[in-house]
Formats: sequence, C-alpha cells, structure tokens
Amino acid sequence: MSIALVLEKKHRLSLREIDLPSKVEAGDVRIAINTVGICGSDVHYYTQGKIGPFVVNAPMVLGHEASGVVTQVGKGVRHLAIGDRVCMEPGIPNMASKASKLGAYNVDPDVRFWATPPIHGCLTPEVIHPAAFTYKLPDHISFAEGAMVEPFAVGVQAVARARIKPGDVALVTGAGPIGIMVALAALAGGCSKVYISDLVDEKLGIAAQYDNIHPIHITKSSVLDVIRDGTGRWGADVVFECAGAAQSVQTALEAVAPAGCVVWVGMPVDPVPLDIVLAQSKEIRMETVFRYANVYYRAIELLGSGKVDLKPLISKTFAFADSIAAFDRAVEARTTDVKIQIKLQDS
Ligand code: NAD
Ligand code: ZN
Repeated sequence: MSIALVLEKKHRLSLREIDLPSKVEAGDVRIAINTVGICGSDVHYYTQGKIGPFVVNAPMVLGHEASGVVTQVGKGVRHLAIGDRVCMEPGIPNMASKASKLGAYNVDPDVRFWATPPIHGCLTPEVIHPAAFTYKLPDHISFAEGAMVEPFAVGVQAVARARIKPGDVALVTGAGPIGIMVALAALAGGCSKVYISDLVDEKLGIAAQYDNIHPIHITKSSVLDVIRDGTGRWGADVVFECAGAAQSVQTALEAVAPAGCVVWVGMPVDPVPLDIVLAQSKEIRMETVFRYANVYYRAIELLGSGKVDLKPLISKTFAFADSIAAFDRAVEARTTDVKIQIKLQDS
C-alpha cells in the first residue's frame, strides 16, 4: 500500500493509502517522485469526472507531469543508475504495436497514460516506470523544471509538426500554459517573433515577459490587423491554435499566410466548424498534435542549454500533504497562475 492523491469520483479527492504496483520488472526503474505539476486534464477529471470517452469509473491516482530520483534499476537497464535525477514520459505504448513501429507511439490505441482512466497517475511517493520512457535531467535543471518537460514536450511536438523555417513569424492563439510553452518552443525552433493572443491581461503579461513574444488582447485590438501590420500584410507563416475555442479556430485560418501552416493544438470541448474553403483558398497545410513522440530528448536539451527558461511559469508550489488545496487552487483558475506544482520531497 502507498499513500497517493486519489480522485474517488467527480469532485472528491482524498490523500489515502491505495494498492499500486510495487515490483520492478526487467527494463523498469523505481523512482522516488520529487515534483508533480497539475495539468488542465487533472483538473478536468476532478471537476467533470471525464474527458471525452475517458470516464472516471473507479478511484484513480492523479498526476502525469513528474520528476524524481531513480532508487532501483531492473534487469537490463543500461542508461540509468540509482541516484539519477529524471523526468518521465507518462504514456507507455505497446512497443510491438504498428504505431510504435512507425515511430508514432503517441497514437498507439493501447497506450497507457498516467491519470487517464483507468490508469493510475504519479501523485504518490514512488512509481515503477519503464526505463525506456525515463530521461536523465542535466545537473543544473531543478526538479521543478524537470516536471515542466511534459507540457513543454507538447510545444516541441507542435513546432516539429509545423516544420518552421528560420525567421518564420508565428501566431499562437491562447496564452495558457500550453500556448506560452508552444511560443517558447517556436522561438527556440527558429521563429523570429511570435504573436500571442488572449482575452486575459494577466496571461498576456506573463507571456510578454519573454523577448520576442508580442501580446495581442483580442477585445482591445484586432488580431488580423496586428498580424498584417507585423508581416507586410502577408499573414503569419505558422499559426498554433492553443485556445481550443471556435473563435480562435476561425482566427487561425484568417491570420495564416498563403501557403502557411496551421497547427491544431487546442482541443475544443465540442466539435467546432472549420472554414475549409478559406483554408483551400490559401492552400495552407494543417497539422494536428496529440501529446508527443520522440521529442523528450530535445525538450530536455532546450532547457539544459538555457535556450528555454520555464521557471517564470511556475506560479505556486504546494507540499504533498496539501495536494487537495493545490487542486482547489488550480480549480480557482486565477488569471495570474500558470503552473501549480506539488512537491513530494524536501530536496
Ligand atoms: P488553458 O485553458 O489554461 O488556456 C487557454 C487560454 O486560451 C486561456 O488563457 C484563455 O483565456 C484563452 N482563450 C480563450 N478563448 C480565446 C480566444 N478566442 N482567443 C485567444 N485566446 C483565447 O489551457 P492550456 O492548458 O494552456 O491548454 C490549451 C489547449 O491545449 C486546451 O484546449 C488543451 O486541451 C489543449 N492541449 C492539447 C494537447 C495536445 O496533445 N494536442 C496537450 C495538452 C493540452
Ligand atoms: Zn499535462
């Protein structure tokens, strides 16, 4: 039995003992969890009890954005040793699947992803995880930053899908944690500047702390006018839609340049209309993103090199004993909060 933050059902969390796997099999490592970030999806399961087809029908441990220390290595594990500081990819595919063989293991229908029902998450002091999905952190990267690799990997995946060219101008719609991390990945990936739109001043202010990120308040100015003015009336080479709103979906198609690219990152709760003729008239390319595959190494390198600094996005850290308060704070959705984290170890 181990103590864990358990979502019993919609609206009910408890910090209690629960039976979790404890045996380190060949290829696995045991990890003492240090820090876990709270994701929008964790909050959604807490307040709604489901996301699309994934329904919380039984108690489930929350959390999937984690860092920690290796405390035991299973047979055959070569690239990790006891004491290594690590972060983990939360999705474990079936390595024999066609998706895995194609390198698109993120879309393996059998993927087991932490805190996606019925799979338990990692808000517990110790987890067993395949070493193949466990990555060493550079010495100077904190556990807090290590726990940011997971959402940042979505940004790196989006940028890889966009196939940015040096100097491209991008628009990101939505300055939530994902939008800001996509913007930072776009700059690191070669964009000269990134515009970011939102309707909340505080969100835009946080994004605008970074060089070359230009905020656009959608009710105070016209996104299209700002993009046209900033691109010689051409449009944004790449638009990353990260708000998941019908309005910003339309903005993305309007703001993208002819022959440009729109990357659909945001996940609208309900289906939204898509102006196909507008997309065709500019013959744009459209890409979709589902989590990430094969980008963790590069996400960690970008943090390690100092090219990307995610520290300003960590808004508040709670002790493990205060996990429920941490979730209630995340539910509040304060406009000044980006990422709330929970720390399970003192160091
Ligand atoms: P969030 O809700 O914190 O951020 C969304 C932001 O968009 C908010 O700041 C909101 O004010 C803003 N917004 C709302 N309407 C807007 C509009 N019309 N124009 C501009 N901004 C607008 O969410 P998040 O955690 O940052 O995630 C963003 C989206 O990405 C969500 O839809 C989430 O489900 C999705 N997501 C997708 C993946 C993936 O693999 N594709 C992974 C993680 C998250
Ligand atoms: Zn997440």
